[in-house]
Amino acid sequence: MQDGFRHRGQRKRLIDRLRQQGEYHERVLSVMANLPRHAFLDSSFAEWAYRDEAFPIDCEQTISQPSTVAWQSSALQLLPRQKVLEVGTGSGYQAAVLSLLGGRVFTIERHKPLYQKAKLTLKKLRLDRGIRFYLRDGHRGVPELAPFSRILVTAGAVEVPQVLVDQLEVGGLMVIPIGGEEDDQQLLRITKVAADKTVQEELGLCRFVPFRRGVA
Ligand code: SAH
Repeated sequence: MQDGFRHRGQRKRLIDRLRQQGEYHERVLSVMANLPRHAFLDSSFAEWAYRDEAFPIDCEQTISQPSTVAWQSSALQLLPRQKVLEVGTGSGYQAAVLSLLGGRVFTIERHKPLYQKAKLTLKKLRLDRGIRFYLRDGHRGVPELAPFSRILVTAGAVEVPQVLVDQLEVGGLMVIPIGGEEDDQQLLRITKVAADKTVQEELGLCRFVPFRRGVA
């Protein structure tokens, strides 16, 4: 994968702009500063990879906007070695960020072409070792490996899936966009304070592709 002078310059400017917004953790920004986002996009979009925009990937899905990745990743407060479940692999970019933050990453996608392509992209970047990929419905989670310290959902759900709350360890955090398909969603951070008790914080409005049922 080519990571030329121009891409590196554009990436540095993007990360500088995100840093100026003052809302994201420096650890997250420094990971993103070293990750070639253009490797996760079709070559026709590579030119724009370092704009703060979402772009189409296959299967009518999108790679999230860099500021959204920075926001979700900061909100998740992931610590090195923690087990983190991502629901919605998409391009694999967010999974790569979680892995570079030191997480042991488990990521689920319901579209086979995306699952295959993300695996390949991360292998090419030599980032696949710390990530396990699953082709399945995210509503099931990964019960065989639960509990997780962190869960990140990158598709907009109508309600908080109880199955995922059940797979969160006590003390763990989940970041998830909640809302209808037509409207903006509210990004929630859910803290599991006891086996049967959660606390929710509203972090702000966002817009994600829908969290759908079943494998596509
Ligand atoms: N995190 C991605 C962005 C993903 S867009 C990235 O960094 O590129 C949301 C993704 O969630 C899409 O790929 C979509 O197919 C997937 N998705 C939606 N509903 C799902 C479900 N029930 N299970 C697994 N993946 C789902």
